[in-house]
Formats: sequence, C-alpha cells, structure tokens
Amino acid sequence: MRGRASLAALGLLLLAIQLLGLQMARADSPPACRYDVAIGAPPEVRLDIRVDCGALPVARLAAVDRTLPRYLDGPTDDAGRPLERADDGWALPAAGPRVARYAIRLGDMGAAERSYSAAYAVGQSVLAELSAWVLLPQPLPEGAVLHLAPRPPAGTGFATALRGRDGGFDLPAAALRFAGYSVFGRYREQRLAPPGRAGAAAADVRVVTLDQATDLPADEIAAWVDDTARAVGGFWHGFPVDRLLLVVLPQAGRDGVPYGRVIGGGGASLLLVKGERTRREQLRADWVLIHEMVHLGSPFVWRAPWMTEGFATYFEPIIRYRAGRRSEASLWAEFAQDMPRGLDAMEREGLGQSRRGMYWGGAIFMLLADLEIRGRTQGRQGLEDCLRQVLREGGDATRVVSLDWMIDACDRAIGGPTIRSLAQRHVWSQAPVDLAGIWRRLGIVRRDDGQLSLDDSAPEAWLRRAISAGRPGPV
Ligand SMILES: [Zn+2]
Repeated sequence: MRGRASLAALGLLLLAIQLLGLQMARADSPPACRYDVAIGAPPEVRLDIRVDCGALPVARLAAVDRTLPRYLDGPTDDAGRPLERADDGWALPAAGPRVARYAIRLGDMGAAERSYSAAYAVGQSVLAELSAWVLLPQPLPEGAVLHLAPRPPAGTGFATALRGRDGGFDLPAAALRFAGYSVFGRYREQRLAPPGRAGAAAADVRVVTLDQATDLPADEIAAWVDDTARAVGGFWHGFPVDRLLLVVLPQAGRDGVPYGRVIGGGGASLLLVKGERTRREQLRADWVLIHEMVHLGSPFVWRAPWMTEGFATYFEPIIRYRAGRRSEASLWAEFAQDMPRGLDAMEREGLGQSRRGMYWGGAIFMLLADLEIRGRTQGRQGLEDCLRQVLREGGDATRVVSLDWMIDACDRAIGGPTIRSLAQRHVWSQAPVDLAGIWRRLGIVRRDDGQLSLDDSAPEAWLRRAISAGRPGPV
C-alpha cells in the first residue's frame, strides 16, 4: 500500500514539475543580482564591476560604506551613460534589464583610508570589507542574493568568507551591512583544520596573511593560530564555526597583537592585526585572538554590545587558564583588578545605556549569572551551557539576534530565568553589586604583600574552582 501510494504521489509530482516548468526552477533559486568583477593587478587593484539584476524591479544602486563614493568611477548604464544621483544612490534605467557598470579604485582606498572597517592596503595586498566595494541594488525582494563572480589576474588571488557557488560567491543582500572581509592581490594562504563540534567534520580555517614580512615565520604564526583554535574549540566542544577566513594584517613598526575584529554576515571572518615585530612570548601571552574566537561562537546581539562583549571578556581569561596558558590565581587576580571598571555600568548607568562599561560591566553580569546557575544546580550547569546550547541552535557569529531572543534561549538552556532577572536589575535599571563580598566567599584574598592568592577553605571555593576548570559539583 505504502509503495503504491508513493509511486502515485511521485507520478503526480513529476507531472506538476512538467506543468510548472520554469516557475518551479524560479521558486528553487532565490532572486539574484550578478556581479562580474574584473580585478586589476596590485597595487592599484582597480575593480571593474558589471551588475546585472535582470528583470528584478530594482530602482537604484546605493553605497553602504560612506567612503566608497570617493573611490568610485561611474556608475553608468551598460552603454556607458552616467546614472543620475538618486536619494541615497544612483538611479538605474527605468526600463529594460537592470544593468549598471562601475569601478572602484580599491588600492587608493586602502592606501588612503587604512581603515579596518573599509579598506587597508599592505604591500601588494588590500583588505576590504565587502560593503567597501559592493554597491547595493535597492529595493530588493526578501531573500535576494548578490552573486559575486571575481576574476583576479594571474599570480594574484581573491579571498572571502562567503560560500562558493557556480564559480562565484553568494552573499544574502540583507547581510551586506554586516558582511565580512575580502582580500585582493598577493598574500600567503595556509589551511588549518581544528576539530569540529560533535558529529561535524573538522573546521576549515583559512589563514590569509597580507603582503608584509615579519620577524616570526608564517608557519609559526599558523601553528599558534591552530593551537589557539584548539583551545577555544575545547571550550565550545569543537571549533564553533565550520568555516573561517582569518586575515592576519602585519603592521609595520608595531609588536604584539594590537587589534582583532570578527564580522559574520554571509560567513565568518576574523581580522587579526599583528605587529611586524611581534615576539614569541607575546603570542603566548596574547588574549586578543581568544577573545575574537569566543565571538565566533555566539550571535551578534542587536543593540546589546554588553552581552556580546561580556561573553568574550568573561570567558577569554577562563579559556586561557583551561588551555594551560596562565595560573588560576592570575585569572582571578585579573577579574578582581578589572571588574571594578564595570561597576558604574551595573550600579549607576545600566548596561543598556553604558558604552564604556560594555566590556567589564558585561563581564560582571556574566560572573553573577555563572555563580547563580552553578549555585542553583549544585554545579551541574554553568553559563557556558547556555552558550553551547545557543550555538547548537545555530547561534554563531554569522547570525544577528535580538536581546530578547538571546535571553530566552539562554534561560531555556539553563532551566530558569537567571538571565532575565539579572537583566531586569542591571540592564534596564541599576542595582548595587557586592564584588568584595563575592571575592571573599570565593576565597580570593589579598595577602600582606598586596598580591592576591586563593583560599580553598573559603565557603564557596568550590564555585570558583567550577568556574575556572569547568568541572561540575562541590568538591
Ligand atoms: Zn570583542
């Protein structure tokens, strides 16, 4: 019976497909604008772009990045006639196929702007956010895709975090404002494969190093990135995203790791600014890469930077301890020293209002949440279980969620309204926090010489150990 019923259903389905023909094909593929991108040789890296939105009723092309118009030639129609300025862009021809051409002087932009949120030129390579060179057709139907088809000249490359398809890359149009990095020109590329999460294949991490010699060899940098990726993977039970473009920007005249940034739209990319003179011991002591890799595993929480930054600020020192890169005493000494910087945000401004307090205010919030969850569950759960559950539900750095969504997802994962009630006290209003009392109960004591040490006989020392090591239960 079942077999015959399925055959009949299959017959009907095939008939429907034949009858619907083109309509079916259209329903399967999203509406798309195609970008043919001829890339010029470095250092000019001039991009000559032809945008073809076919029959989509698109009215204009808009610049998302405010510096883009300074380096723009055109846009024109397909025959080379200039397009007229519209409100926030350039009007496309009202009839016929919606086609336009424009060029971006990307090398000039990278050399003049030297901006991590637009373009930055290093040697024969240019790093650029996608919104620094992609004009956005508007209005676009929901679900529309920008299909980018770049053609780099021989001997140079093009790298992006976007997923490949049909010889190009797809970017959901709605993600352009949050879209990550692209790299043009001459660069070095290494591939890493840290273990993926449960049941998933190893992650695909591409390390792209811009064109500048540095004191430490590239293989050593890659080994350090790999080691860090595995340490962060230990926290998430596997590397948090399946694909990552990690761009290393060597900065002349600097040492250490001065800056990092994650952007997730269309695919996760991570920028790591590293001094050309960075020393081995600076890499071992670095916190920036771990902080950024914590961002990879949680969604961008819309208009609540304290939550995104709170997670990363709180868990980065913990992950470094668990990876054997620091002692437990130094971990809590850092919390005791730096968390007071977030007290104003928690007690007087409210995290929802405070800009200065988003890092350490956010971290205090996470500590309070972790203590309450571990105390209530006798150590069976911690704040990290909320993050892992959100990640299992697809909440990684490529996703943008509301604060309400994040609070509800977290509270569901830990079985109680811990996050919502803390948010009521410290985000939408303000309430005192007794940090000194917390340190006392956890057994973080100041010795006569002024140094902090750990006292395992303190009443809640087991909570401190559970947070540090991630091991459950009172000892
Ligand atoms: Zn951050």
